[in-house]
Amino acid sequence: MAEFSLDLDEDTLQIQGWVHDFAANVMRPAAHEWDEREETPWPIIEEAARIGLYSFDFIAQAFAEPSGLMMPVALEELSWGDAGIGMAILGSTLGLAGIASNGTTEQLMEWGPQCYGTPEKVQLAAFAVSEPDAGSDVSSLRTRAVYDEAKDEWVLNGTKTCISNGGIADIHVVVASVDPELGSRGQASFIVPPKTPGLSQGQKFSKMGIRASHTAEVILQDCRVPGHCLLGGKDKLDEKLSRARQGIKSSGQAAMKTFEATRPGVGAQALGIARAAYEYSLDYAKERKAFGRAIIENQSIAFKLADMKMRIDAARLLVWRASWMGRNGKDFVAGEGSMSKLFAGETAVWVTEEAIQILGGYGYVRDYPVERWHRDSKIYTIFEGTSEIQRLIIARAISGVHIK
Ligand SMILES: Cc1cc2nc3c(=O)[nH]c(=O)nc-3n(C[C@H](O)[C@H](O)[C@H](O)COP(=O)(O)OP(=O)(O)OC[C@H]3O[C@@H](n4cnc5c(N)ncnc54)[C@H](O)[C@@H]3O)c2cc1C
Repeated sequence: MAEFSLDLDEDTLQIQGWVHDFAANVMRPAAHEWDEREETPWPIIEEAARIGLYSFDFIAQAFAEPSGLMMPVALEELSWGDAGIGMAILGSTLGLAGIASNGTTEQLMEWGPQCYGTPEKVQLAAFAVSEPDAGSDVSSLRTRAVYDEAKDEWVLNGTKTCISNGGIADIHVVVASVDPELGSRGQASFIVPPKTPGLSQGQKFSKMGIRASHTAEVILQDCRVPGHCLLGGKDKLDEKLSRARQGIKSSGQAAMKTFEATRPGVGAQALGIARAAYEYSLDYAKERKAFGRAIIENQSIAFKLADMKMRIDAARLLVWRASWMGRNGKDFVAGEGSMSKLFAGETAVWVTEEAIQILGGYGYVRDYPVERWHRDSKIYTIFEGTSEIQRLIIARAISGVHIK
């Protein structure tokens, strides 16, 4: 087990600098354009693939780093560059996380690299859980997976909504119910390979923020996938279902396992936006003059910046702690993963709003990046578990009471 340390090792420092350069030189200059266009920024993803940043190998390296800090450090830098483009780059990693948390090593090795493709032929992945009538309430998914024993195929039917990279991904990881009577314990995850008939994109959503990241419905109509696309395999699923039918406790649900693993990383992304807004407004406050002095000379502005910095640092400590715990096999006994995502997400919303206030009118207009950062930040209190759901997880963990 790696000791927890705030001193980043050489490798992590090197990655931090490398991702920061890409964020500063490639993402930042393109951020406004792709926010306005509200399209997947293919040229930027391709550039990230060319340098190896958008690749299975890089994500595997960051996940494997023993302290667990390389991943949040890289994600913070990406999101500092631009959260929308960052999410376009990272959406595939959510699909990969779905495979890593529920699949076998063979499945990870087969499908993981396909989530990214190659620099010559970039591919995308998506993780499809949410449905029109089941977002926070993951236990009531209606998408059904029925096993066709004669053909050794699974048949998927249902509608997924608000899916990052939904419909444009090459690999979709779909969570579906095999036995609806068992709620979340009757669910399983499936790979839908590229160009599988029966999977199509529904409505593409126009959004408030992270607009460079594609968000759409995914429609599954008699979508047949081979038996080996069931993550974890049939024997493991049969055993899980049989334990659930006997009322024996299990180690977790298909979707929840993925979210537990990815929450500190989502917190790190929120942190990147908050830091961008803090740095920008600190510089601005030193430059901008009103009443014959720099606005930072007013306590009301300087104290905002002091609070912004303090909350950002506190959020980073929570994110790093949870990332270290996750990597080193420590159980989140007090909902530490949720704490990190909750606090970082709410910090990003708060910090970016304060940044708008510091910039005054310029904070509100699109010529400056601050209003975009505020729009981008809001999603971090909603996806991968809303702030309310994170509080529920923490409250249940600390109390042992099934709080509703
Ligand atoms: C841009 C974007 C990208 C997304 N990407 C993906 C993706 O890639 N894959 C995917 O599967 N999903 C994705 N989602 C969906 C997202 O995860 C859900 O929107 C989110 O989980 C909330 O679900 P909901 O929208 O159905 O809200 P609801 O569950 O209907 O919640 C509505 C409100 O009620 C509150 N609430 C609900 N239940 C409780 C409770 N028990 N206690 C207290 N409050 C409660 C919620 O906190 C919220 O404030 C994405 C969404 C967006 C907007």
